Amino acid sequence: MSTLEIKDLHVSIDTEQGNVPILKGVTLTINTGETHAIMGPNGSGKSTLASTIAGHPRYTVDSGSITLDGEDVLSMSVDERARAGLFLAMQYPVEVPGVTMTNFLRTAKTALDGEAPSLRHWTKDVKTAMAQLRIDADFAQRNVNEGFSGGEKKRVEILQLELFRPKFAILDETDSGLDVDALKVVSEGVNREHSKGEMGTLLITHYTRILRYIKPDFVHVFVAGRIAEQGGPELADQLEAEGYDRFTAQTPVEA
Ligand code: ADP
Ligand code: MG
Ligand code: MG
Repeated sequence: MSTLEIKDLHVSIDTEQGNVPILKGVTLTINTGETHAIMGPNGSGKSTLASTIAGHPRYTVDSGSITLDGEDVLSMSVDERARAGLFLAMQYPVEVPGVTMTNFLRTAKTALDGEAPSLRHWTKDVKTAMAQLRIDADFAQRNVNEGFSGGEKKRVEILQLELFRPKFAILDETDSGLDVDALKVVSEGVNREHSKGEMGTLLITHYTRILRYIKPDFVHVFVAGRIAEQGGPELADQLEAEGYDRFTAQTPVEA
């Protein structure tokens, strides 16, 4: 079992107005085999947490720690984080002009594992995963994300997840912009990888919709850069019914 541990994390972002504190003491422990949902209103710092775990240069860690099995993640480069087993699916996946999907996937897999995957298994694994995610075979020869629709980009993210087999997957708004069919296919991919029992998932979302397909073990409600409440899956049901008002309302309104 592996453990990703975030302790009292304070993060600020560089803006034209100077350094603005965003995360104000986030503590969270995720073990492989567990799915944690982070839910919260827009602007509460969910993507900041994801980007900080991924090592985005724009964010400054003012205090606190992130460790993976005791190793200091914050001192690792972005590449080292990926090799350590962290996978981040971004809210806005990027295009990589001039690089075909096939080349990209194989090059990335080789870099992650430190050796090239056996060609025989690899070709089969890619084909199987693409078919399961209902990604057309033609995509293998297309440039990474170039001209892909939103839904296609999301499927390709999950394709990477299934092929790279990370210890921890951080999925930031993987559900945004997906129709129900795509949402199901994408969720099935995450669940397939999850069922192998060797991955921990941090599922970041504003909406509860994806939680009908991916069942979280723990739900954390993020408000103003902090975890305001934690619970089990029932907390997601409650948020679906009530929204975030009770966490964000400045003054309680009496009926
Ligand atoms: P969420 O993902 O929960 O919607 P974010 O982490 O994206 O929240 O944003 C948290 C806060 O940080 C917001 O108040 C947002 O305005 C601010 N923020 C995020 N990115 C930037 C940026 N590039 N410049 C200035 N402020 C930013
Ligand atoms: Mg947002
Ligand atoms: Mg966000």
